[in-house]
Amino acid sequence: MKTTKRPIYFDYNATTPLHPLAFEAMRPYFTEEFGNPASLSHSYGWSANMAVEKAREQIALALHCQPKEIYFTSGATESNNLAILGLATRRGDQNDSAPHFITSQVEHKSVLEVYRFAQTRFGAEVTLVDPDRFGQVSLKSIQRAVKPNTRLISVMMANNEIGTINPIAEIGQWAKSQNILFHSDCAQSFGKLPIHVEDMAIDLLSLSGHKIYGPKGVGVLFVRSKNPTVELLPLLSGGTQEHGIRPGTLNVPGIVGLGAATELALSGMGAESERLKVLQKHLISGVLNQLPEASLNGHPTERLATNVSFSFRGLSADIFALGLNGLALSAGSACASGTSSPSHVLKAIGHSDQLARATVRLGLGRLTTFADIELAIDKIVEMVVKNRQISIA
Ligand code: PMP
Repeated sequence: MKTTKRPIYFDYNATTPLHPLAFEAMRPYFTEEFGNPASLSHSYGWSANMAVEKAREQIALALHCQPKEIYFTSGATESNNLAILGLATRRGDQNDSAPHFITSQVEHKSVLEVYRFAQTRFGAEVTLVDPDRFGQVSLKSIQRAVKPNTRLISVMMANNEIGTINPIAEIGQWAKSQNILFHSDCAQSFGKLPIHVEDMAIDLLSLSGHKIYGPKGVGVLFVRSKNPTVELLPLLSGGTQEHGIRPGTLNVPGIVGLGAATELALSGMGAESERLKVLQKHLISGVLNQLPEASLNGHPTERLATNVSFSFRGLSADIFALGLNGLALSAGSACASGTSSPSHVLKAIGHSDQLARATVRLGLGRLTTFADIELAIDKIVEMVVKNRQISIA
């Protein structure tokens, strides 16, 4: 039988493979340990409950918060919805004036579209601040947008398309000084950068299992319990799980896998980040040195070690849409998958539609080797040079 060789995986910002040890930790909770963690009258339930509570502790340790501040969800999309709508649907403290919210143009759609929904459905007032040319959101831009009725600020810790890291501690501490709540989408940074919800003064934090070699369909919303106490209105009704904030039987295997993946990410974070930085640097210089039309998107230094995004001036916009032979990378970060509209992030950093479309994102991760990087450089250069000749002809 002929087996086709699969392309090398360069899409770790989209998702990651489950870590084998996380899979092993999950396995019993699909089979013999199948109890409902809410069934506290027998040992099946106790065992499931203990496993969930262990995962809650593992994640709390990573965020430097209390286990009771961890709420399990289905992923970062749900966590972002719960954080934003959980506050937007609450009655204002300033009599009946509609609350005001601040977020940035470069957030994930699961933040931007939720704010749009809050605006049209609940009359929330929303200000979108512009990033700088590297996609970074400054405290100054937030300060310019603030109003007396600002209730919440949402700024992601690191961008999923271009990898730029935002000054989260600076924004969080200032928000705290103004008694404004601060939410950060940490789907891309959790497990890769150190996060400390006290030092960073974060009140609400979203994260996702499948970005850190954990399972898909599980995530967390951290909700601060004191200083200040954040009160959310739940999006779902019908159960008392997760203090009624997120009712429904818990996804026990998923939660166990997320806990295990968190512990693994934390223990190897420093060494893995240093290893990836070397690979990232090699990839960036390898492409930029050979292709004058190439530019790196995102911040030159304040960026995730797992992300490289290039745009190519003067190239046909569609050459990457078909993918690069042998490389599983994302041209879909340039165009939201399934649509032809250019990325809102690349537009926000000033790219034309054409340049935004002539963009590729490579996500680096646990299984990426130096040889993979060398091959990626060769393939990208070859593709661009070939396309350059076609454009001239
Ligand atoms: N926020 C960011 C920054 C992301 O990268 C993603 C995943 N693409 C999400 C939110 C959504 O996460 P999930 O897939 O867990 O819903």
